[in-house]
Amino acid sequence: MNPARPRSAAYFRRAQGVLVGGVNSPVRSFRAVGGVPLVAARARGPWIWDLDGRRYADYVMSWGPLPLGHAHPSVLKAVAAAAARGTSFGACHGAEAELAEAVRAALPSCERLRFVSSGTEAALGALRLARGVTGRPLILKFEGCYHGHGDSLLVKAGSGAQTLGRPDSAGVPEELARLTLTAPYNDLDAVRALVSRHGKRLAAVIVEPFAGNMGFVRPQPGFLEGLRALCDACGAVLIFDEVMTGFRVAPGGAQTLLGVRPDLTCLGKIVGGGLPAAAFGGRAQIMRELAPLGPVYQAGTLSGNPLAMAAGLATLKELGRPGVHRGLAQASAALLEGWRRLLAQAGRPAFLDAEGGLFGLFFAADPVRDLGGAKASDTVFFARWFHALLEEGVFTAPSAFEAGFVSSAHTPTVLKATLRSTERALERLAREGRRGSRRPSGKAAAGREKGRRPGDNR
Ligand SMILES: *Cc1c(COP(=O)(O)O)cnc(C)c1O
Repeated sequence: MNPARPRSAAYFRRAQGVLVGGVNSPVRSFRAVGGVPLVAARARGPWIWDLDGRRYADYVMSWGPLPLGHAHPSVLKAVAAAAARGTSFGACHGAEAELAEAVRAALPSCERLRFVSSGTEAALGALRLARGVTGRPLILKFEGCYHGHGDSLLVKAGSGAQTLGRPDSAGVPEELARLTLTAPYNDLDAVRALVSRHGKRLAAVIVEPFAGNMGFVRPQPGFLEGLRALCDACGAVLIFDEVMTGFRVAPGGAQTLLGVRPDLTCLGKIVGGGLPAAAFGGRAQIMRELAPLGPVYQAGTLSGNPLAMAAGLATLKELGRPGVHRGLAQASAALLEGWRRLLAQAGRPAFLDAEGGLFGLFFAADPVRDLGGAKASDTVFFARWFHALLEEGVFTAPSAFEAGFVSSAHTPTVLKATLRSTERALERLAREGRRGSRRPSGKAAAGREKGRRPGDNR
């Protein structure tokens, strides 16, 4: 389909014969935008190279775990040293408590922690714990928020905030989905109505404090504070899923940035520094209900894996150096300022927003505050923009409903080069527009993008 990348195309054909859809996580297949997926050969700093030897400035960055860039020397060194001492113990080891202390220093609400291997596991653990301590069955989540692929969390509203949940994936029993209530993001009135009706049976409210899985959507002033107050009033556990925002929007995540203290927090991505580690943590009084101290069971053969702990520790240490977080925010701001200018010149309405090292772009005229706004954006143009950028050596998320990521390796020089590539990409689109012909992949992508369910497709 894309003769310019023959090796990638050949690999993907082979992979489709043995891996479902050729991938191990759906979004990597490029189904939302069409075309041959990027097949990575190697990566360093802000760059990723594909099997055909093409180099791309990377704004996917493994979907968040790499705030220092790919293959950072300190992380590589720490992982190699840990590997030489043994790759897994199935027993306690020193780096577990060391990383936990570093996490708690940044997020004081995490008085006690439990490490797991993925964000999915972190959310599942936090939810079971919330149900265990409250003895209540219901949970409340927000439309367009993603908390991994656990059964209870693959649920969004059918229509209207007041309706009870229905499954968003085949294989989730309706009986289970009914225990998940949903409300539109940023809609405190909808939450208030659900709490007044179901509050006594509500175990937890789980939220992405900045949503990053329907594109990037920030919380409106008072939204998270309102959730805190409603949870306090009805006795539900407030869970911040900071798997994406933790250590990225600010050193202490969204909760320290905005000054709202959740009862439990889910972490992942950066906490493992590019290796499989995640965590959940929170008030000691709640966390001690977890096995082996309490009756809520949770366990993992590879939990607290020494290589992952070493990568996480090295990453947090580097991130803690003066100016690193400011640099991430400046990189996002410079990229978005450039894109805003170029898209305005091209006459293309766009809403761009960022916090720290996390950013988003919607082809929409109005600010996007929830899933409805995200879905109303121009996903047809998005697919064309994505492919034009890719052709010019810039790799962005292959879906209109994903956030973007920068790292400390995205220096002003790299960002300037990206903006020059963007200029060429927009010229390419303008030429195609004049010819009135689109890339076949762009056209095919339009239909597919409509079928894409935002927020469940990592
Ligand atoms: C990525 C993500 C998850 C899931 O983490 P996995 O490691 O992919 O299981 C959960 N919540 C949020 C907010 C995420 O961004």
